[in-house]
Amino acid sequence: MISSINPATGTVVAEFDEHTDAQVERMLQGAVTAQKRWARQPIEVRAAVLTAVARVLRERKAEYARLITTEMGKPLAEAEAEIEKCAWTCDHYAQHGPGYLADMPVASNAESYVAYDPLGVVLAVMPWNYPFWQFIRFAAPALVAGNGAILKHANNVPQCALALQQALVDAGVPAGLMSTVLIASSRVKALIADARIAAVTLTGSTAVGKQVAAQAGSALKKQVLELGGSDPFIVLADADVAAAARTAVKARFGNCGQSCVSSKRFIVEDAVADAFVAAFVAHTRELVVGDPLDPRTTIGPMARPSLVADLDSQVQRSLAAGARLLTGGAARPGPGCYYEPTILDDVTPDMAAAIEETFGPAAAILRVGDADEAIALANATEFGLAAALWTGDLARARRLVRQIEAGAVFVNGQVVSDARLPFGGIKQSGYGRELGAAGAREFTNTKTVWIG
Ligand code: NDP
Repeated sequence: MISSINPATGTVVAEFDEHTDAQVERMLQGAVTAQKRWARQPIEVRAAVLTAVARVLRERKAEYARLITTEMGKPLAEAEAEIEKCAWTCDHYAQHGPGYLADMPVASNAESYVAYDPLGVVLAVMPWNYPFWQFIRFAAPALVAGNGAILKHANNVPQCALALQQALVDAGVPAGLMSTVLIASSRVKALIADARIAAVTLTGSTAVGKQVAAQAGSALKKQVLELGGSDPFIVLADADVAAAARTAVKARFGNCGQSCVSSKRFIVEDAVADAFVAAFVAHTRELVVGDPLDPRTTIGPMARPSLVADLDSQVQRSLAAGARLLTGGAARPGPGCYYEPTILDDVTPDMAAAIEETFGPAAAILRVGDADEAIALANATEFGLAAALWTGDLARARRLVRQIEAGAVFVNGQVVSDARLPFGGIKQSGYGRELGAAGAREFTNTKTVWIG
């Protein structure tokens, strides 16, 4: 049984039986048949269907946002923004997909060019933190490229998973091209091994990424892995400290801190550390924790009780090791998965809050003497997803970004995913890229054509 539980109340909202093997088999076969036809459509036809998906998402924004909020707890305004972003990304690939995937002439000793052919049916294993966005971010480029998709979503967001399938069908995506399978994660392995699955994409934890990578590797299947992060937010002495502190609150506490590209380690030069920390704490105390359906709420519950327990353990272990609590530091009693927005100061690199991914509303402040120390500390992590760098000297920023080990560096701004820009990590944060032109080509066969 797959249960949808409202994390604000702990009540069961809906329950679903898992799909049987026979049902999954029909979906797989249907996806293969539909994908073969879809791949033969001109790309302009596929792009037009994405425009229709964008329209359906916008028309149903209120309904889908409520679904997101009641299944995983983000405030309604954030859920609506998620749907808007999905629609915008579908529009982006409708408009730019044909260009990203156009034949690319290459000079050689004859007529030659590169063509981007779809790979087939891609298995998407997706997480609950952005239940619509995580799937659409993969699906918009993959579908315009001519692929099909089987979605195995996180089992705490089954209603979102089914709504995504319905939205695509209602927009005119051919029947069967994309199906949601409601199955336990233990059944993913068999899908990866199935010859009809051409490739796999996973967004989730590094631990699960390693398992999926091993399974896909042993079947020699292409994978894209978008895993955890412990992104640094570096504030140098010449930064606009007030702007950095305001942005830090959004970068850490947006989505209740449950984002792979949330800033998690705030690495601040001593000269401005007190000023930055004071402003960061003051803005954080302005956050309104509460019912995510209440429009006044700016931070809702975490998505599951186990996530609260994991975060609290990281906070308590860091405090026991000498970190200083500036605000928050505990789960809120009563029903719901609430955790007080938390800031820990004097965190050192050996503490849990610095080493582990903190997937919730807890910020770690690490004070450093200079910029070199800041960069060294930023890189002193097994992760490499993204980083934010705050400085008033852009020439210096351009030099320093090349020293930061991450898939993206944002200077004087919050790290966000953007349909126009490639997104993905290095090191234990995974490999492959979503979004941008790179994302459109990830699930394609880069085919060399030579005509003598
Ligand atoms: P998981 O990595 O466990 O889950 C992500 C997806 O993988 C879900 O669809 C899940 O399904 C599936 N999955 C779980 N185990 C397996 C498996 N053995 N084989 C194949 N698929 C599997 O993330 P959690 O939700 O448990 O969150 C735990 C931690 O992961 C977080 O605290 C955070 O550190 C990280 N995370 C990172 C995300 C990101 O955006 N990069 C997003 C979410 C989590 P099911 O729901 O059925 O278990």
